Amino acid sequence: MRPATIPLRLEEVALELDADRASPRATQSLSRRHAPLAAPAEQLKLLGSVPLRAEFRALAPALAPAQLEYFQVNLGKLCNMTCRHCHVDAGPDRTDAMMDDATVEEVLAALRASRAHTVDLTGGAPELHPRFRDVVQAAFDAGKQVMDRCNLTVLLLPRNAGLADWLAARKVEIVASLPHYRRPNTDAQRGDGVFERSIRALRILNAAGYGKGDPQRRLTLVSNPAGAFLGASQSSVEREWREGLQRNHGLTFDRLFVLNNMPISRFLEWLEASGNLASYMERLVNAFNPAAVEGLMCRNTLSVGWDGRLYDCDFNQMLGLEIDLPGGPHIRDFDENAWSRRAIVTARHCFGCTAGAGSSCGGQTTGTGTI
Ligand code: SF4
Ligand code: SF4
Repeated sequence: MRPATIPLRLEEVALELDADRASPRATQSLSRRHAPLAAPAEQLKLLGSVPLRAEFRALAPALAPAQLEYFQVNLGKLCNMTCRHCHVDAGPDRTDAMMDDATVEEVLAALRASRAHTVDLTGGAPELHPRFRDVVQAAFDAGKQVMDRCNLTVLLLPRNAGLADWLAARKVEIVASLPHYRRPNTDAQRGDGVFERSIRALRILNAAGYGKGDPQRRLTLVSNPAGAFLGASQSSVEREWREGLQRNHGLTFDRLFVLNNMPISRFLEWLEASGNLASYMERLVNAFNPAAVEGLMCRNTLSVGWDGRLYDCDFNQMLGLEIDLPGGPHIRDFDENAWSRRAIVTARHCFGCTAGAGSSCGGQTTGTGTI
């Protein structure tokens, strides 16, 4: 495998992102603004200060690991966008948090040895990582299903010309975030002009065969609410989106996930600044759905951070809540048998996953929640 000179190539990416100024950014990263909430400990402190009638573990005492199915890798926090609700605090400035070559190799060794059937690549925008194609190819060669968590607009960058066809040839599932099928809701969260660019990217994906019912070219859209409320019913939203995207743009997709916004990072900052934090947390607790616990992604997913540290999920990763494993929670030491016996680490943000119909990387986890 060819070695990557990451600093040089990241500079190239940064230059391209600088040129990508077609739309104003929705915001700046917490890190760039030196905001207190850039520190995970501050986020946990703020969440801990909200009066709640119950703690998460008291309501979900039976939460326990299942079989490992998803090997999720966060390649880094670099992103071409800076969305208001981002739980990763990603942005064009986040070249400080990118997986290095040595860690990429350790990840590849671990995923080849793993019994997980799916490798789930996330970021930031994972496609901006200099080794993105290497990782996809290695996972594909190892017989894994690959998922690319794609923000859509990244496909329009010159470096990614032809990427949709390349991914299609490797049967990669595209899990594409699009806050809403209408322009105002999407642009409000992601920046002016993002909706229009997302539609252009969806055209590219449809042209590559995605979103047309072919299980080897699956296009999943991911939607999240614009404010301090829970996601609507996935099945009714999916129907509405199908009709809206087909009617207005002639576009198709295969399925739609509806996620709740997690009370962490930039969405947590917005909740606090807008005076919605206490009421949102209360809403999450009051909407706790015991049936959602079984489908939580922390049960069947290993989450690997950009620095190789291990977590029960992407959200714990952003809060610095490392996995409870002996011997140092790093991918180079990963032991799948020990993983399956661990205690899952939880805190108050977990209420975001169990509210209403549930909310996980795979969308709503039940069909029985009340919204
Ligand atoms: S929400 Fe997604 S697209 Fe938006 S800044 Fe975060 S990682 Fe990038
Ligand atoms: S935040 Fe993570 S650990 Fe908590 S319930 Fe959700 S998936 Fe599980």
